[in-house]
Amino acid sequence: MNRASVLRDNPREHCDVVVIGGGPGGSAASISLAKAGLDVVMVEKEQHPRFHVGESLLPHSLPILEDLGVIEQVRSIGVFKPGAEFIAEDGGRHAVFNFGHAITPGPDHAYQIPRAKFDQILFERARACGVRCFEGTKATILSCDESGSVITARESSGVEHTFVADFLIDASGRSTVSTTIGGHKRPDRRTSSAAIFGHFSNVPRASGPNGGNIRIHFTRPGWMWEIPLLENITSIDLVVPGEDLARREGTVEEFFSMRVSKAPVMAEALKQATAVRPLATTGNFSYRAAKSYAPGLIRVGDAYGFIDPIFSSGIHLALESARSAVDALLNVRRHPARRAAIMDDYDRGIRRKISYISWFIYKIHDPVFRNMLLNPKSILDIDRAVISLLAGDFRPDRKIQLRLILFKIIRQMVSFSRSVEIKRSA
Ligand SMILES: Cc1cc2nc3c(=O)[nH]c(=O)nc-3n(C[C@H](O)[C@H](O)[C@H](O)COP(=O)(O)OP(=O)(O)OC[C@H]3O[C@@H](n4cnc5c(N)ncnc54)[C@H](O)[C@@H]3O)c2cc1C
Repeated sequence: MNRASVLRDNPREHCDVVVIGGGPGGSAASISLAKAGLDVVMVEKEQHPRFHVGESLLPHSLPILEDLGVIEQVRSIGVFKPGAEFIAEDGGRHAVFNFGHAITPGPDHAYQIPRAKFDQILFERARACGVRCFEGTKATILSCDESGSVITARESSGVEHTFVADFLIDASGRSTVSTTIGGHKRPDRRTSSAAIFGHFSNVPRASGPNGGNIRIHFTRPGWMWEIPLLENITSIDLVVPGEDLARREGTVEEFFSMRVSKAPVMAEALKQATAVRPLATTGNFSYRAAKSYAPGLIRVGDAYGFIDPIFSSGIHLALESARSAVDALLNVRRHPARRAAIMDDYDRGIRRKISYISWFIYKIHDPVFRNMLLNPKSILDIDRAVISLLAGDFRPDRKIQLRLILFKIIRQMVSFSRSVEIKRSA
């Protein structure tokens, strides 16, 4: 099927942009494109509200949510999150990072949000902005090149639509529907983790605002999160090396209980807790597409790449990449001759943002690095630079970049002196 024949047979199904996926990345891109006056079709295969993992926002997402016109609604469904806590399960050390101490100016808090409601708010906002929204509708790409794209969208009732668009945004999350189009999804072997996650009631919380913090428990191997939500629900995630989950003996529930029993702080927190939804799993965590764009196509959020979510970076990266993708697309429409340069800029920008946070993620198993997070020192504001990063400043200025480099040098030096000590004592 080519573009001309579809246009001839279905003249009303033309639009400027088709967005595949109605998660945060897809809805954010659709809202901004519609506000810029474009005719946008967004296709989501599930029906909102639907469960999705990933419930902790970062402060730097709040101005984006404000621009999108949803900040008040997000506030109303969220638990106030002033910071992040790191807890060592093998020794009880505990450090609190308050976003208010970040070097970068910006919000001093974020929110913990139930994704079913959060994603629905964004999706409905897109509809209110004039986006033609389809739910319970699965999209398939028939063709995509510089002249445009042809996409079919099949509703659960069996009704099928064919859309011809000048441009396609792949925001399909971990489904990565466009990888066959110059994408070549590659697993990131440096963080090959898997997760088990569930919702529990009756998990005790600290009183006061710190009760809204995300609590990250370091275990060996892996880590766990506690994310407090409204209505006395706490989201608990367990992340382990992928092969541990694959080679487990027994059920997922037994494996989860066994790992919790080896983590005394988490075990205490879950002592009186009741599971309110069945545990779910996801494996083969991290990947990246070879490029964030192809002719006629831009990838945003997880559809481009997924990095381990220990620092709650996923939604923020999806929102940021959606914003940059919209800027790029509008720029290409204004200056078609500069298409290649504009798209390369988009690609570089998204890679740079991911790379700032990636070093921290790759080092997360390293005992020296963990120790530095558990014992933050106020030297030369290095701790405040780390907080800026944890708050979602993935475009740090030179002042912050220099401090993050110092942080890395200190880690390297401590690691080196430890290895010398070990060799001497051997
Ligand atoms: C265990 C775990 C914990 C996490 N914790 C956090 C956290 O605390 N904070 C955080 O910020 N991030 C977290 N994340 C990451 C976060 O969930 C994602 O990064 C975020 O959802 C990405 O948004 P997105 O819009 O790119 O993709 P998604 O939110 O996945 O949205 C993609 C949408 O596309 C739809 N879709 C897929 N294929 C098709 C198709 N063919 N046709 C139509 N629609 C389609 C899907 O149904 C989905 O709704 C976590 C991830 C995991 C795995």
